[in-house]
Amino acid sequence: MAVLVCGGAGYIGSHINKQLNKEGYETVVFDNLVYGHREAVKWGSFVQGDLQNTGEIEAVFQTYKIEAVFHFAAYAYVGESVENPEKYYYNNVANTLNLLHVMKKYGCTKMIFSSTCATYGEPEKVPITEDMPQRPVNPYGVSKLMVERILKDYSKAYGLKFVVLRYFNAAGADPEGELGEGHDPETHLIPLILDAASGRRKEIRVFGTDYDTPDGSCIRDYIHVYDLATAHLLALHYLEQGKESNFFNLGNALGTSVFEVIEAVKRVSGKKFTVSVSDRRSGDPARLIGSSEKAQSVLGWKPVYGDIDVIVGHAWNWHDKTF
Ligand code: UDP
Repeated sequence: MAVLVCGGAGYIGSHINKQLNKEGYETVVFDNLVYGHREAVKWGSFVQGDLQNTGEIEAVFQTYKIEAVFHFAAYAYVGESVENPEKYYYNNVANTLNLLHVMKKYGCTKMIFSSTCATYGEPEKVPITEDMPQRPVNPYGVSKLMVERILKDYSKAYGLKFVVLRYFNAAGADPEGELGEGHDPETHLIPLILDAASGRRKEIRVFGTDYDTPDGSCIRDYIHVYDLATAHLLALHYLEQGKESNFFNLGNALGTSVFEVIEAVKRVSGKKFTVSVSDRRSGDPARLIGSSEKAQSVLGWKPVYGDIDVIVGHAWNWHDKTF
């Protein structure tokens, strides 16, 4: 029996693939390598393929007995999703239907789906709990919410069992230094600050300093990618125990502002760099903080790397070694 990791060459998927292998699972990573990195797949088998080609997915199910599917394969640039929604609905929604179709055909009934706090849009209050309204404000968030709805319907109609994990801001790198975060183009705050600290970029720009927050910059809930990976393992165990489909937020319930993250990078790296201020980025809510009480009580999840200096420290170690 094997576990399929769609999008397992990407940032989050590669960390989960590592932990699955460490726990003794046989894994098959399926990735089109549009954004993923082949060198990040250091464990298990690798198949280069695209979810838009149902035949390529079927070939995997013919070769391996797939017990469960982790689904990370998606586009995740919010701004791009506003400019080119078609790309997002095709890849994130239609291609997921291809995957679900093949799973149904081969009797695979377990899926762990990578969703996002972007499905909540602008929250009425924080920390956000799973029962709060989901009103995404960009096509990326809508595409993830659409898949959540599809999973619910598949669950009722075809007996699929799923766990949806709604991440807050995934951050950090493998504590053992084997994996890290590298997007091209890079849009995420922490790698961009690290680039400024290492001199790869000339500055870090803070998008908006007039938010209704103590220092005026946006507040996010940064969750260590190692802790995210642990939650995915627990979600798999949960489904293996025959439990019902469910939805969980994965955050630290801790808010950190953009300026606080910049200070953490300065502390950890010991580097000085230029910080400039620019306009707000459109579609950025002032505060996104997730309650993960449900994941803690139902899955037994205990995040261990909540401290922003530790998160940034692991990211810096990897960044320093890699770039
Ligand atoms: N941000 C910033 N400068 C940058 C990139 C991001 O000030 O160069 C801010 C962004 O406005 C947001 C936070 O950093 O408030 C986290 O952004 P990121 O893109 O990493 O994640 P998101 O919250 O959009 O998922």
